[in-house]
Order: sequence, then structure tokens, then C-alpha cells
Amino acid sequence: MDADIIIVGGGLNGPALALALASGGLSSVIIDALPLATRRKPAFDGRAYALALTSVRMLDVLGIWPVVATNAQPMLDIKVSDGKPGEGAASLFVHFDHNEISEGPMGYMLEDRTLRRALLDAVKASNLITQIAPARVLAQEIHSSHAEVVLDDGRTLRGRVLVGCDGRRSGVALRASISRTGHGYHQTGLVCAVSHEQSHNGVAYQQFMPSGPLAILPLPDNRSAIVWTETSTRAAEINAMSDKDFMAELRPRFGDFLGKIKLVGKRFSYPLDLTIANEFARARLALVGDAAHGIHYLAGQGLNLGLRDVAALAEVLLDAARRGEDIGDALVLARYSQWRGADVMALAVSTDAINKLFSNDNPVLRAMRVAGLGMVNALPSARRGFIREAAGLSGDLPRLLKGQAI
Ligand SMILES: Cc1cc2nc3c(=O)[nH]c(=O)nc-3n(C[C@H](O)[C@H](O)[C@H](O)COP(=O)(O)OP(=O)(O)OC[C@H]3O[C@@H](n4cnc5c(N)ncnc54)[C@H](O)[C@@H]3O)c2cc1C
Repeated sequence: MDADIIIVGGGLNGPALALALASGGLSSVIIDALPLATRRKPAFDGRAYALALTSVRMLDVLGIWPVVATNAQPMLDIKVSDGKPGEGAASLFVHFDHNEISEGPMGYMLEDRTLRRALLDAVKASNLITQIAPARVLAQEIHSSHAEVVLDDGRTLRGRVLVGCDGRRSGVALRASISRTGHGYHQTGLVCAVSHEQSHNGVAYQQFMPSGPLAILPLPDNRSAIVWTETSTRAAEINAMSDKDFMAELRPRFGDFLGKIKLVGKRFSYPLDLTIANEFARARLALVGDAAHGIHYLAGQGLNLGLRDVAALAEVLLDAARRGEDIGDALVLARYSQWRGADVMALAVSTDAINKLFSNDNPVLRAMRVAGLGMVNALPSARRGFIREAAGLSGDLPRLLKGQAI
């Protein structure tokens, strides 16, 4: 064997999994198509993550959080509204306040580039992890005793388990003939960062517009990350605009509650779809992160879901290894897919339903939505339930997400 685990994909979940496994003594090889230098680039790619409190606990156990914490912005409150362009983000809302739970902030905002570099640096420092990049996996085979991948440089690698962390278009799933369920949203996320005159005070805003949600997420230094969802046709028109015209479109949606706003850095766009693998694991093979499930960005939970996969899979594999079981056995890996299946489906179905219910201008649905949001705002137990979900505190949590070593 070249390693216990062969991981295809060195984005975010691949390195996090390798580090979690190494913390319990299992070795891995990470293969990625992109050179390491490209993935470590300090340029901002527009993405910033709302990391749930439990994801932060896990990153802390893995030694990543102490490295990135000074660049993270605590997310204290979330305000959700049902709006229209011109109304601004601070109109009628439901207010979720972190003081309603005892654990502290629901999560932290962290830029992709900061998290990515910290993960890759920790991987480099581990003597149980080997990185191979740039290299593409061309073929894979599952045998009774091991899994095997063939790289485009002619090398063949063997491990006891093959894990696909290779994103929404997972080649590992495709080569294993694992089918997917999903659909396109005909929506595109327009992503950028803005600076503003007034402090956001750690408040995140989610405003549901007829064409899709607009998220304004707090970043350090009086900046906010914008994830603005539009129909793909309209998004293409907005994308083609100059920065000045783009900001003229954004301002009436954003409102003036944070004073004057200014574009910081480049603009990016991401088409949106729902894509769920119909199997998360089988003998000697598992899928993790976006390779297993790509969901709508509106809940800001894609990476959090992936990190929950990482924590669950690492715990299942390490516990099996300690008991002397074959870690690639179908029954061992079934524990992982059973653990993760319900959680993923619940979030995929709810984000899909919320997007359908809110992304329209139907007056009847709008009246129902406003009444529904008002009811949630008036019910402390409903508010607390939502806050615990956003913080990742509900469900059967793996040890890493409780802040415990594995
Ligand atoms: C605008 C935006 C905002 C988001 N906001 C949030 C948020 O607030 N909170 C949150 O939790 N999530 C958020 N997400 C989701 C989050 O970005 C993803 O869930 C996460 O990046 C998935 O990581 P991954 O490691 O699974 O996959 P990826 O990051 O896609 O990595 C896959 C890796 O596999 C490699 N690869 C692919 N094919 C091969 C091959 N054949 N051989 C070798 N290597 C290969 C690729 O080079 C890549 O490095 C957001 C996403 C976007 C786009």
C-alpha cells in the first residue's frame, strides 16, 4: 500500500480529512489536478465561509483555528427579511441573536484563501500525509483487498480506501458509476466584497428577493461578503456591466443602513445547482464534501456539511482500525453513509424548498412568507432551534465537532 487512504481532491475537505485521519495515526496520499502554488495563491476568489461553531471546534482540534482565528469575523446575529430591490436589507426581518444560546457566536466568517492556505500548510507539515500535484486521476479499480488509482503521469497508487473529495463533478463517483440526483436552479451567484462606512457589528443579513436571496455577510475591517443570487439570464447581463454599473444595481438592494458602500477587489460568479450522489459509500470507496452533495448556497452550509462528513468518516475509520476491522469493508463504510445520509438530505430538501418558496413575487406567497417570518420572530423556541441549526449543534455529532480529539 502507498497509504491507508487515497484521497482524490486537495480543495478544502480533502486536506481536512487527511489531517483528521493523521491525528489518529492513519496515513493518506492527496492527489489534486491543480499545482499546490495555485491552490495556495493569496488572491481572493470571492468566497468567504460562514463556518458553524462546530466546524470551528473541529478546526481547533486539528490545529488550524489558532492559525486563522485573527482573520475570522465572529457572526453574532442573523437578520432575515423578505424584500424587493429598493427596500434595502434592513427592512422587516426575523432576528436571530446569539445571546439566545449559551455557546457564544453561531459561527465565524472566514475567507477561502485564509482557510485553504492554513490547511495546505498543516498537510505539508504532517509526516503521515503525502501530496501529489499536479496530477489527474485517469482510472480507478476496486479490488477485494485494496483500491487502486492510475495517474496521468503513469503512476499507480494503492490504498485500503479510496475517498473522492473531488468536488461537484466528482470523477471518483463517475468512474464508480454512482449516479446523482438533482437539477439546475437557473440561478447564478454573483459574488464580491464591499467596504462600508459603518460597522456591521457582526450581523449577517439574508434578504430574499424575487430572483433569489441576497446575503450580506460580515468580514473583518468594515467589509462584507456579498452573495447575490439572480436568474442566470439576468446574472449574465449584470456580469457584463462595468464595476460602476454593477454597484448601481447592487446599492438599492443593499440599502444605506451601513452608509456608503464601495466594491473591494474583483467580482466572481458561480452557477447554482443541486447534485446529490445516490450512494455516499460502498466497499473501499467513500465520497466526501461537494463530491457527495452540492447544495444551494442560500444556507451557507456547503462546507459545513463537508466538514461534518470529514468528522464522521474519520471517526468511523479510526474506530474500525482500533478494533482491528478492515477499514475498507462495506459494513464499516456503511456506518459512514448511514450517519451522514439523513443530515444531508434534510438540508438539501429544506434549502431547495426555501429557494422555491421565496424566489418569486407571487403576492399570495409573499403574504404567507411575511406572516411565517413574523411567527418565527415571535416564538423564542423556533428562533433558538434555528440558531442551534446554524451553529451546527443539532443531531448526533462526531467527536471532532464536539471539540474532542479522535
Ligand atoms: C460563492 C460561494 C459561497 C459559499 N459560501 C459558503 C458558506 O458560507 N458556508 C459553507 O459552508 N459553504 C459555502 N460554500 C460551499 C463551499 O465552497 C464548498 O462546499 C466547498 O468549497 C467544497 O469543498 P470540497 O473540498 O468538497 O470541493 P472543492 O473545493 O471543489 O475541491 C475539489 C478539488 O478536487 C480537485 N479535482 C477534481 N477532479 C480531479 C481529478 N480528476 N484529479 C485530481 N484532482 C481533482 C480540484 O482541483 C479541487 O481542488 C460556498 C460556495 C460558493 C461558490
